[in-house]
Amino acid sequence: MEEKKIARYGALWGAILGVFMTAIYDLIKSKPFLSTLWRVINWIWDSIFMYQVTIWQILIVVILFLIFKRIVFEIKLSETKDSPVFLDYKEDIINDTTWRWEWKWSVFEKSYIIVNLEPLCKECETPLKLYDFSINPYGECPRCDKTIKITKTKEKMERIIIDNIKKGVKNK
Ligand SMILES: [Zn+2]
Repeated sequence: MEEKKIARYGALWGAILGVFMTAIYDLIKSKPFLSTLWRVINWIWDSIFMYQVTIWQILIVVILFLIFKRIVFEIKLSETKDSPVFLDYKEDIINDTTWRWEWKWSVFEKSYIIVNLEPLCKECETPLKLYDFSINPYGECPRCDKTIKITKTKEKMERIIIDNIKKGVKNK
């Protein structure tokens, strides 16, 4: 009884595996990219035996890779530990309007950049919706519909914020 069961399962798995392998083979044959990849894999496999790469050499490469990963991780960690003081400077009143923003590390520029810079409503501190494409730019509060005149563009505001930090006006 048990043997019969095992035999039946064996046949079933054999059939599934057969269909699977055929599907993979067909897929490789139908896609030139995959057959190229297949040839590359074969070539690497053959090379391993040709150059007699030992398991030790593979292990050394793996260990070196892990050490390298660890070092990169440590460097990243130390960067976050010594975060500059200006990161606390996230709000200021400039030209009678409160502006709020966040800092984000930019991998591309390798420095912190200002993101989500927004003027706030004087009444309820809700970030204003900016209409800064017109000649007279203004901000409107989505909550209380109060509008205020926006005298500085976001681009100018960013420059002022960065200048404030450089001049040490704000570095608490
Ligand atoms: Zn408001």
